[in-house]
Amino acid sequence: MSNAKIKVGVLGATGAVGQRFVQMLQGHPWFELTALCASDRSAGKRYADACKWNLRGDMPEHLRDVILQDCKPGVDCQIVFGGLPTDVAKPIEQEFAAAGYIVCSNSSNHRYDADIPLMVPEVNPEHLALIELQKRNRGWKGFIVCNPNCSTTHLVSALHPLHTHFGLKKVFVVTMQAVSGAGYPGVSSMDILDNVVPYIGGEEEKMEQKEPQKLLGQFDGAQIAYADFVVSAHCNRVPVRNGHLLAISAEFIKQPTQEEMLNAWKNYDPLPQQMKLPSAPTAALIYDERQDRPQPRLDRLKGSVPGMATVIGRLRPDPLFHWKFLALGHNTIRGAAGGSLLNAELLVAQGYLGGEAALLAKQLQFA
Ligand code: NAP
Repeated sequence: MSNAKIKVGVLGATGAVGQRFVQMLQGHPWFELTALCASDRSAGKRYADACKWNLRGDMPEHLRDVILQDCKPGVDCQIVFGGLPTDVAKPIEQEFAAAGYIVCSNSSNHRYDADIPLMVPEVNPEHLALIELQKRNRGWKGFIVCNPNCSTTHLVSALHPLHTHFGLKKVFVVTMQAVSGAGYPGVSSMDILDNVVPYIGGEEEKMEQKEPQKLLGQFDGAQIAYADFVVSAHCNRVPVRNGHLLAISAEFIKQPTQEEMLNAWKNYDPLPQQMKLPSAPTAALIYDERQDRPQPRLDRLKGSVPGMATVIGRLRPDPLFHWKFLALGHNTIRGAAGGSLLNAELLVAQGYLGGEAALLAKQLQFA
């Protein structure tokens, strides 16, 4: 790889999300993977020995002999992507931020902090302005930027243009979430085969109480004013390997027609697509008109960057709310590693790593 690229590392590189990072960073036009980190059970071992590679295709050959490092500052990179369990991520990610690293986190620890951006780059790029506040408040040399929960990402992506045009009042959502959302080895096969588990710890609270409202909130120059709508969520684990399917009902301040709903999705052209960020799919939202779609196995990789779009379908009137529809999205790609990667691309493009990095990224992208 070219030495000119921006050096990045992965914390939790042996896990479900960590492996996705490793996979998605191969051949990235701006980023060079220079550090693989995991727990002290794995540090010091070869990546091939410590990591049970669970993704389609083989572990990248040139990484097999790379020695895993501890999740401690000192690793040779500017950005660290976090794929750590929530119960261990907080002190580790804070230590990296304090030491000057840019931390793109997947854990839920800091998602609701008033000075930490919770990001879906298509939805709320202006929230990155919180970074200045964060650095001032905490005295860190670096900073933390978070991703939402994997179901929230796709819920909010589908709702964003609707909220912009019609104003959300009430949302009711039933999730059917893939087993990979629980990490590896995750849910036992004896629990999930021939079954649905109608409980995912903490998931409904994340979707109902804060994440959608913060993401769709307005930055007023000093803080985020949370959007004022209510969400009711039922979260279920289903025997699907990858891809969360969401059945959504919504009521609006101004009731749209079916044509207005479809046009809001069709004409959606947010910032990452306008900027042509490397991991931004040409269309962030894809409406599938077939009456039995989207389906996880068939549609989770749809779009120009596989796994990065949200696929919507089955828009129809709702006898309780205004409209109901389905949304599907990949949980470890857009819902985790890919979401973080797009956050990092937006940070680079908007100059948060300095003007030189932004210029370099532009040169590398269009070289
Ligand atoms: P996972 O498969 O269990 O992987 C956890 C990783 O963290 C492994 O690399 C593990 O390394 C490392 N680790 C564990 N304890 C550690 C410690 N004390 N110090 C340093 N490293 C440690 O988990 P995951 O599913 O990838 O989830 C990672 C994070 O992403 C979680 O916060 C999760 O909530 C979030 N998330 C997951 C998804 C998803 O779809 N899976 C989606 C969105 C967000 P060892 O191999 O050495 O143990």
